[in-house]
Amino acid sequence: SRADMALYAAKAAGKGTARLFSSTMETRIQERARLEAQLRAALERQDRLFVFYQPIVNLQTGKVTAREALVRWHHAQRGWVPPAEFVPIAEQSGLIDQLGRFVLHQACREATRWEDGARVAVNISPMQLGKATLAQTVRAALLDSGLAADRLEIEVTETALIQNEAESFEDLRQLYSMGVHVALDDFGTGYSSLAHLRAFPFDKIKIDRSFVSDLETSADSAAIVRAVLSLGRGMGMTTTAEGVETQEQLAAVRALGCTDMQGFLFSRPLRGDDLSRLLFQPAV
Ligand code: C2E
Ligand code: MG
Ligand code: MG
Repeated sequence: SRADMALYAAKAAGKGTARLFSSTMETRIQERARLEAQLRAALERQDRLFVFYQPIVNLQTGKVTAREALVRWHHAQRGWVPPAEFVPIAEQSGLIDQLGRFVLHQACREATRWEDGARVAVNISPMQLGKATLAQTVRAALLDSGLAADRLEIEVTETALIQNEAESFEDLRQLYSMGVHVALDDFGTGYSSLAHLRAFPFDKIKIDRSFVSDLETSADSAAIVRAVLSLGRGMGMTTTAEGVETQEQLAAVRALGCTDMQGFLFSRPLRGDDLSRLLFQPAV
């Protein structure tokens, strides 16, 4: 079994490499297996899993147009575990559909309580796409919560579209025909393919945080953002700048013509029950 662990590490490191077994490999694998079992239990009991919400604000009106649902896991020993750590575990262990359903149902239910009628945006893993099951899952969450389809926004990254391209677009088309909005997340980091923009009528492009943080120092980043915004305008898509943390970044994305912004400057992701005090936040 130790030889197998070394083989696994060698495969993960890429072609044409060898790895010697080390005890850290074993500890890491045991830790991962433990996390997977604990995540499975958390999902079964619907315990210690939370959905936080981060507002997305229109730059002209200052109104919250949507809130992005971001899943959080409160681990008994480790405290808050970020999704970047446990979503991949869910993807690799077949738990992602269950996790995805949990977030979708929670988010839709929560959104029915928002007096401002903002949309709720839910992230979808590449593993949930292209299996002809997404529309059914989404329909169930809408029916269960009573949320109108056009108040739901699904966020996909381009990585999700690359695998099973035809099937993935078919899933998105079904959502579109139900009236659900679809946003392209983290734009600029992956393939940033114009073919994708042509293949599907996305409602929104979300410009990756790395461009926003670069705006003040890099003329290239500003030029790329300007080009993406122009594409968005030309194609009737709204454009959200992700990860706006400072007044300077806010001024820059506003000057470039982004329609919306999201970031710690306006609000961090908050638990559902903390949202009420933010509903009537003054304009940014
Ligand atoms: P994302 O969809 O791009 O989500 C935005 C991430 O940026 C969130 O991190 C959010 O907390 C963070 N963020 C927002 N504003 C700022 C800012 O001003 N500065 C900085 N430094 N960060 C900011 P989070 O919640 O850790 O989520 C990370 C990623 O995990 C998400 O990226 C998304 O890809 C994934 N994820 C989160 N929730 C879910 C989920 O329910 N399902 C799936 N499949 N993936 C999820
Ligand atoms: Mg997202
Ligand atoms: Mg993003």
